[in-house]
Amino acid sequence: MSKKLLTLILSLGLIALFASCKVEPAMTEAITEASSAESTSEVQTTSVKESIEETTATTTVDEKKVTTDYKEYKVNEQGHIMVVMYHGIIDNPPYHRTKEQFNKDLQYMYDNGYRLITLEDYLSGHIDVEAGMTPIHLTFDDGLDTTFALKETADGFDVDENTAIGILEDFCKEHPDFGRGASLYFHDQKTNFGKVGTDKERFDWLLEHGYEFGNHTASHDNLGKLSKENVVKAVGRVEKYVNSLYPDMHLTAITYPFGARPDSSYRTAAVKGEYEGVKYNYVIGFREGPSGPFVPVTHEKFQALNAPRVRGSEGANGDLWWYFDYYDKNPSLKYISDGNPDTLVVPSKRASTVNDYAKENFKVIEY
Ligand SMILES: [Zn+2]
Repeated sequence: MSKKLLTLILSLGLIALFASCKVEPAMTEAITEASSAESTSEVQTTSVKESIEETTATTTVDEKKVTTDYKEYKVNEQGHIMVVMYHGIIDNPPYHRTKEQFNKDLQYMYDNGYRLITLEDYLSGHIDVEAGMTPIHLTFDDGLDTTFALKETADGFDVDENTAIGILEDFCKEHPDFGRGASLYFHDQKTNFGKVGTDKERFDWLLEHGYEFGNHTASHDNLGKLSKENVVKAVGRVEKYVNSLYPDMHLTAITYPFGARPDSSYRTAAVKGEYEGVKYNYVIGFREGPSGPFVPVTHEKFQALNAPRVRGSEGANGDLWWYFDYYDKNPSLKYISDGNPDTLVVPSKRASTVNDYAKENFKVIEY
């Protein structure tokens, strides 16, 4: 685990204590933030892609030039980063996508300046995407065999190209500048991700290709309906299972099944505890749906244990395609990178949102 992530865990421990008591309706909040922050005359007339083509990369050599670029790119590193909740590749909306629909989502992201980041980078705030781009993180719940599966080839195992990860791999090969990464959340079952290969072989393939893991409880338990003891068991069993495959691995994230958290009096048991000698300690707990604004880890409103996800679907308010449209209409709310992962570049009007974690870990540049 990187030093940055450790620092983050310590910092977020405190935030988590407060955050876990509170649920805020994100869409309302996002809209409130939009109406207060968005100037009505600010309409996105040039696409991110166009502005990138016009201005070739400039670096930190000339301060003045960089300042000009911030404005030109409309850099906002306190802006929203969507985390998308996907499941399998099945024709069963709204929780699943077909191959065509998933490709359509990826193509929209790519064409509209979204770039994939890993969970680790999302959690550390160390966002390494090109200037002008908006990071996005993809999550996949349930350990389904249409999310990921291996197939046997003459040379050994390879990813099944009809699974979500197979589709994503192909898309990333064709669009090398799209970035890489996704995190997958599963149970403690041997049938995670199908039956081809052993569970260790399936997980090995994912790790070797840069994917990250998280906890989705032992058997898709609704944590809101369990006693404290059973919450510890439901969460701890998955950590123990991962530990049996990779003794040095500790998960950092949980996606609450049904988005449900335990009773508020023992809510933290879902993220920190010990089960049969195995300790777990999660930095982030993702909900199902937009439980709050999609602010980054460096933002004062970031709620580590009440982190929102947008359902990867279309047709309903608050789904992925609703948010695509929303951010297209409100571009100043999006995270827009300056291209330098070590700085946190913030428009003056948003400077007050920078939290202590950001001040301690980044060079904050206000403009
Ligand atoms: Zn689930």
